[in-house]
This record gives sequence, structure tokens and C-alpha cells, in this order.
Amino acid sequence: MNTGPLKHNPAVADAAAVSPCKREALAVMLRAHGVLPTHQRLEIAQVMFEREQHLSADQVLARVNVLNAETSKATVYNTLRLFVEKRLIRELIVDPCKVFYDSNAGDHHHFYDVSSGLLTDIPADQVRLQGLPPLPEGMVADGVDIIIRTRPRD
Ligand SMILES: [Zn+2]
Repeated sequence: MNTGPLKHNPAVADAAAVSPCKREALAVMLRAHGVLPTHQRLEIAQVMFEREQHLSADQVLARVNVLNAETSKATVYNTLRLFVEKRLIRELIVDPCKVFYDSNAGDHHHFYDVSSGLLTDIPADQVRLQGLPPLPEGMVADGVDIIIRTRPRD
């Protein structure tokens, strides 16, 4: 079991393993975010919150079906969309063909290595923003996501 840092979302730390009490912790977390913890949602949450990570929907699908080969692609997509909507996870649209789901829903930014496809977290306090334009009339900011694209030096 990975015991990496989970400082942004302490509720997740209790939800890492497969044991019934960990599964119950996941169910509590889902309910706390207004998500009914069905069997398949719990399977998907178990994969997603195993550690802090960035996964594509296809990676989630493959891992869910390693545990239990019964979950459809549509269920995985719909569940991930629901988790994003309920702010359990974040959606990172790296480019129109590459969407990742981030188990760390807290404020942070990313490095994206275009050569390997690897996403790495940047703590929010390491980025200072100046000179953002005024928001459109009647709007509030819902978040600022920065993706710094990198590649190995030639
Ligand atoms: Zn991240």
C-alpha cells in the first residue's frame, strides 16, 4: 500500500485499503459530499483515492476491472464526472485529447511533461499570480489552474 503524502485531503488517508472498515470510510466520505455510495462508485473511489495521483478515465477503468470485471466505461465516465461535480476530485484538461482526474481536490498547479505525459503537482504557494484581469460582470472566480508544460532540454 502506498502511504504517500495526503496532506490536502485528510479524509482520503483513511480510505486507502480494501478492508471493510476502509470501505466504510470511503462511503462516509462520498456521503459527506452528497454522493450515494453505490457498489460501483465505491470501487471507483477505492482506485481513485488509493493515493494522490492523476489518472485518465481509461486508467481508472482498467484498475477498477482488475478488482472486479463488471464496470462499464460509461459508469466510470459518469462516476468521475459526478466526483468532479461534487468536488471530490479535479478534472485536468491537459489538451482536448488528454483529460486526467486528480485525487487531490485542493488548490495546486501542475507541471506536465509533454514527452512522457507525466503530471507533477506544484504546491499552490509556489505560484504567485499578478495582474489577473477583472472578472466579467456578475462572475466570481471558481479557481485558477496553471499547467506548466515541460520537455527535456535538447
Ligand atoms: Zn495534482
